Amino acid sequence: MPKYIFVTGGVVSSVGKGTVAASVGRILSVRGLRVSFIKIDPYVNVDAGTLNPYSHGEVFVTDDGGETDLDLGWYERFLDIKTSRMHNITTGQVYSEVIARERRGDYLGQCVQIVPHVTDEIKRRVRLVGESGVDVVVVEIGGTAGDIEGQPFLEAVRQMRLEEGYDNTLFIHVALVPRLKSTGEFKTKALQHSVNELRRIGIQPDIIVARSEQKIDDSSKRKIALFGTLPESAVFCSYDVECVYEVPLILEEQGMGDYIVERLRIGNPRPEWGEWKRVVNLFKKTDKNVRIAVCGKYTKLTDAYVSVKEALIHAGVNLGARVEIGWVETEDIEKEPEKLRMLSEYDGILVPGGFGKRGTEGKIECIRYAREHDIPFLGICFGMQMAVIEFARNVCGIERACSTEIEPETPDPVIDLLPEQKMIDEKGGTMRLGALPIHIKEGTLAHRLYGSTLIYERHRHRYEINHNYWETLQRHGLVFSGLSPDGRRVEIIELPSRFYFLATQFHPEYLSRPNRPEPAYLGFVKAALDKRMGLEKFELPQLVV
Ligand code: GLN
Repeated sequence: MPKYIFVTGGVVSSVGKGTVAASVGRILSVRGLRVSFIKIDPYVNVDAGTLNPYSHGEVFVTDDGGETDLDLGWYERFLDIKTSRMHNITTGQVYSEVIARERRGDYLGQCVQIVPHVTDEIKRRVRLVGESGVDVVVVEIGGTAGDIEGQPFLEAVRQMRLEEGYDNTLFIHVALVPRLKSTGEFKTKALQHSVNELRRIGIQPDIIVARSEQKIDDSSKRKIALFGTLPESAVFCSYDVECVYEVPLILEEQGMGDYIVERLRIGNPRPEWGEWKRVVNLFKKTDKNVRIAVCGKYTKLTDAYVSVKEALIHAGVNLGARVEIGWVETEDIEKEPEKLRMLSEYDGILVPGGFGKRGTEGKIECIRYAREHDIPFLGICFGMQMAVIEFARNVCGIERACSTEIEPETPDPVIDLLPEQKMIDEKGGTMRLGALPIHIKEGTLAHRLYGSTLIYERHRHRYEINHNYWETLQRHGLVFSGLSPDGRRVEIIELPSRFYFLATQFHPEYLSRPNRPEPAYLGFVKAALDKRMGLEKFELPQLVV
């Protein structure tokens, strides 16, 4: 029978509940247990695909084309697993299902209610993952205790405690404990209130994780235990650490692993931390720095590019380098073009994915700067499309080249809607999504990086390089080094005349792991390091072990 661990949050959101959930998973997986995850997002959207990255951060794409919450990215990176759309449950999905059933007549004669119909559907979805051949499912409930939207989910997991039994369920409550700068005091009252909020609906946490800037003191810990009705050994602290992959280690050090396996009667297999510690040590061994400019439009909330950021960090540490990221707002460059010159301070320039017109001319200028000054460049999805526009305008002389996404009436749509998208009006879940095969041309930079002629990478786009311009672009030196198997979609472009100039229609960052950096990112960061050292040409990376 699978065990269920429910992770709730208190006081404020975005304090790293996802990291704690992923860390709990890692703590159990090093004990040989098969762990899976569910992220519950109580919003009414069916998925994260239509959410603004400014309020919710990046949309994480799974192999099966799910557009999901970014926490799934943390689960994948922490456990080196692959999740799918079934691992992200939202109110929208649950209600769509219940309403569809009602229309079909499945509940004929009944009044359809939140309890039991909606809660039953929530439990069914949670158990679907539990019954997929795993030992433990960590279920993270988004938002904070007391949110109106969260109530049916908390009610459902409260019922699961009764149905699955005490030994098979565990509640972990993660809440912020602020520290007052003036007195240095840790304040636990808000945490206490959030525990009360949970108890009001019948959930007594088994473990409390105090999330704080620094390790909380013993008296705060005692207070949390006393008011939370827990032994002190069930109170843990997740304090700020330099490297996020250290969080499982600091929780383990406080005894969390032993506490959980004992409480869930799992037996106590010895943890094998060897590989994970090796990864964390990589972060400490960095003896050089490399500066990367990420030129985008959501730079004020870097969670909007969290997988890009992590992929850069993974590439760096595996080369013994600490990546310093400069977030460049491309709209600012449009307003003050002289700001472009600050790009000379960077060793590499990355233009990430994006949508819509704002900041695009600035992105195109950043790419031009990278190409003309031969600064290593990596373009991702929209970044690749902008690179093609830049090349078409400034190398092929197609002055008004643009994307129909930005300028629907452009005379030269070098980037245009995918043909199969032309009939689609609905926005939710309709892009070209998920893992798809890519054929790589032999003898290209991409081939050297991936060491294969066939790869699978995750996509999320509606636009592509317009077939009518292929010949012109190639004649001027742009190489299409990756294509879809039918030869109709361009997946990777490169400029062999440059030190490192590569862009992908897919999103390589979703597959990057701390112990296994993604080749396009790894090559990019290596190029940035090498170019600064004055190397003549790009050489394939050797990883530090
Ligand atoms: N907006 C572009 C498209 O739909 C790029 C999408 C992206 O960068 N993910 O094709």
